[in-house]
Amino acid sequence: MGNYFEMFFQALIESSDDFIYINDCQAGTFRYSPGLVELLPLPSEVLTNPLPIWKEIVHPDDWERFYNSNMAITNNLTDEHLVEFRACKRTGEYIWLRCKGRMRRDLNNKPLFFAGAMTLMGKQNKIDNLTQLLNHNEFYSSLEKFTQSEQIKTLAVIMIDIDDFSQINEIYGRDTGDQIITLLSNIIQSTLPTNATAYRLEKDKMGILMTNCKESEVEILYNNINDKLLLGPSRPFIQINFEVSAGCCMYPKNGKYKEELYLYTDYALQKAKKDGKNRLTFFEDKMLIERREELNLLYHLRQDLNNGCQNFSLNFQPQVDPNTKQIVGIEVLMRWKNENNVPVSPSIFIPIMEKYSLINQISNWLLTTTFQTTKKWIKDNPNLTISVNISAIQLLDYNFLHNLFTIIEAEDFPAQNLIIEMTESYAFKNIEPLKLIFDEIKTNKIKIALDDFGTGYSSLSELKHTPVDIVKIDKSFVKDVLTSDFDAHFIRLVTDICHTVDITVCLEGVETDAEYNFIKDMGIDYIQGCYFAKPMDTEAMEKLLYQNI
Ligand code: C2E
Ligand code: CA
Ligand code: CA
Repeated sequence: MGNYFEMFFQALIESSDDFIYINDCQAGTFRYSPGLVELLPLPSEVLTNPLPIWKEIVHPDDWERFYNSNMAITNNLTDEHLVEFRACKRTGEYIWLRCKGRMRRDLNNKPLFFAGAMTLMGKQNKIDNLTQLLNHNEFYSSLEKFTQSEQIKTLAVIMIDIDDFSQINEIYGRDTGDQIITLLSNIIQSTLPTNATAYRLEKDKMGILMTNCKESEVEILYNNINDKLLLGPSRPFIQINFEVSAGCCMYPKNGKYKEELYLYTDYALQKAKKDGKNRLTFFEDKMLIERREELNLLYHLRQDLNNGCQNFSLNFQPQVDPNTKQIVGIEVLMRWKNENNVPVSPSIFIPIMEKYSLINQISNWLLTTTFQTTKKWIKDNPNLTISVNISAIQLLDYNFLHNLFTIIEAEDFPAQNLIIEMTESYAFKNIEPLKLIFDEIKTNKIKIALDDFGTGYSSLSELKHTPVDIVKIDKSFVKDVLTSDFDAHFIRLVTDICHTVDITVCLEGVETDAEYNFIKDMGIDYIQGCYFAKPMDTEAMEKLLYQNI
């Protein structure tokens, strides 16, 4: 290729987002921009007779089109070249490319050079490169088209999203995260009825538009997707369990315009997550009020966090030995008051802090305040344990452990008296990748408690392999213990099984004399509940503790 071509080619590459190519017809060489060689398994930037190589790269279904378009140029049937095709990337996935080119001839009509550009069609606002589903823009424009069409009487707007996807990404890495997204999109694609189309909206969120359908058809679709997630044929390739939630909004019942339909579907999806995930939730008007309240809380939480954690405080609840009624431990519970000085339940504000990534901001304050407050209590009561609640999101934050150990050292806190309570979560179920984190916690003599046991993901058989030191049986089992044989047996069984693997058992939520008398001989190691003491402030806790010693 001559010097002139070379300079021209370089200038083009440097000034374009597309992949430029040029064919020097006299030399018979093709030259591709480096970006294309990086993307596709082309052996080098300069190739002679590249067609056999392209045959390996172009999707078999698109080969004929690709070949014919090139042959039309070679055989002087046309000077224009335009073909859209799928090409296999170096990583093995297919992407859509649009190849556009033009032949230039000399004065004698002899081919001089043939040049053009290949464009990623994903970049052209149509196709998502990872999943090959239509993308977010297409979803939005279809939504507009359907809501304006005479033929469309009803439309279900659906969003599906992988539960705890950020934890999956943290634990297994982005590549596996991408594989899971692709798997889900394949499952959705293969499950859709003919009146539905799927889109990839963002990250792990997919959209589906189903025309002229009833709510029951949406339920059937969601159930079919779920069934395939459990058993589907491509399932064996990825040995990672995951579940999905979905939100749905119906046109015209819930809204007429694309903006509101989009928003309301998202609210329904968020509600599905809030209600415990792994479910399909339909939009209802009352969600708008809940949503406004949530945003208001979020605003004030953010403000207080930025103002040195003002309006946050700590409460303490004792854990007692059921036989001696002595205090053996204390659980630290976070409190927050809103702008009207009204306490908001942590079961409301903590999920919001988790959802909007605020929870990690509070960790340092929580640990520092806890250690400063309880250090003296431990000095006077050396076996006293202090339990703090740490959510999986906090634990997976890669700064968390470092901060924890730094604060322990700075405050000179005895780590062996510390217990980290974690609720059963995705992270706990898939404990293997978390082993390193748990190992580090345990090397530093800190203990781990599995909170709210019996309500979440774990099963009894998994206890054998979990690195937990303490199991806290959820308070819902005490609620009906006097009347429900199942609950009573469950508490006894969990206690016995835990003891066989040296796990300590705590029962939460003991409220009455009758409940206490019923469970006190079950062999439970310690008990926490209003029967002994409600959560209280620092002063009250200190008073009770010093009475108790
Ligand atoms: P949890 O960890 O299961 O905490 C025990 C909850 O049970 C506390 O609710 C406590 O006040 C309540 N409780 C205590 N005794 C009884 C009883 O006899 N009967 C009944 N029905 N309830 C009782 P609280 O303080 O509202 O906290 C709710 C949840 O919020 C906690 O559940 C925990 O998951 C979360 N949480 C609280 N503080 C923190 C924190 O600092 N960090 C994190 N990540 N989560 C926290
Ligand atoms: Ca707890
Ligand atoms: Ca609990």
